[in-house]
Amino acid sequence: MSLPFRDLRIGQGLDIHPLAKGRRCVLGGVEFPEASHGPAGHSDGDVLLHAVMDALLGACGKADIGHLFPSSGADSARWKNADSRGMLAQVVTMLHSDDWSVWNVDCTLLAEIPRIAPRIDHMKESLSALLKVPVERVGIKATTAERLGCIGREEGILATCVALIVKT
Ligand SMILES: [Zn+2]
Repeated sequence: MSLPFRDLRIGQGLDIHPLAKGRRCVLGGVEFPEASHGPAGHSDGDVLLHAVMDALLGACGKADIGHLFPSSGADSARWKNADSRGMLAQVVTMLHSDDWSVWNVDCTLLAEIPRIAPRIDHMKESLSALLKVPVERVGIKATTAERLGCIGREEGILATCVALIVKT
């Protein structure tokens, strides 16, 4: 059987950030203005976009986001408080320049706070635009840690992503 693609690859990404009181909360490129806590980090801390970037980079065999957008060392100042949407746009451009396209992504957010469900559709639209894929190929789920461990104590937020990329 011949596939309608020259090549296809799968990648997975995982990221975790501490939650800090009063910190701006942006997830999947979408603001949560009512959130009391936000993901702390060198960039804007968008844990969901970071997991998506690592899934895409892993799928095409490139170094992870820590290498591309370092949070320490000589090049790190460029990425201080950086908008992760711009970082993801760079990753997508890198993929396209190697003839890869994103086929679909499926993500899970694990957090007690903020309440994610009301903004899932908005986050899917945001990711769809950034990845240049139809919104029906973007999966985002949210679940809690059932009060277990550091996520359960509202100390952090975790995101995973699985991505399929194709060469046509
Ligand atoms: Zn991160």
